[in-house]
Amino acid sequence: MFSFWNLFNRKDHFKVCLMKLTYIDYGVGNRVGDTIFLNKNLKKYPQLHDAILEHEGNHTDDWSFKDFMLDLRNDEIGEVKGEYYRFILTHPRAWANYSPILKLGNQWCFDITLTFFYVAFLSFFILLYFVVQ
Ligand SMILES: [Zn+2]
Repeated sequence: MFSFWNLFNRKDHFKVCLMKLTYIDYGVGNRVGDTIFLNKNLKKYPQLHDAILEHEGNHTDDWSFKDFMLDLRNDEIGEVKGEYYRFILTHPRAWANYSPILKLGNQWCFDITLTFFYVAFLSFFILLYFVVQ
């Protein structure tokens, strides 16, 4: 069935082809500008590999609200959630992806979305502390 959504998706797949793909041995998947960094161990999980590649391809070059919603919804990973958790639990170096600051290539990168979640989480518990007291 034709839909505008499919048209957008196709455009994103085209974008992925134009991007540089670099394999590293930590984290899960990240995108900096036109370079996608994937954990090399994802090659052992082809379905998860492609889902994460699609997710990173859908991100914008800079940070925008679209990126925030993309990470909140994580639709691409939906069907391979089980594989995702298996990957995370068996590859401790993948946990680096949950750090708000991560070195990718030769630069240190700052994850705005993750920082927002950590601040929101912390604020919630601080608020809870004052309410319970
Ligand atoms: Zn993302």
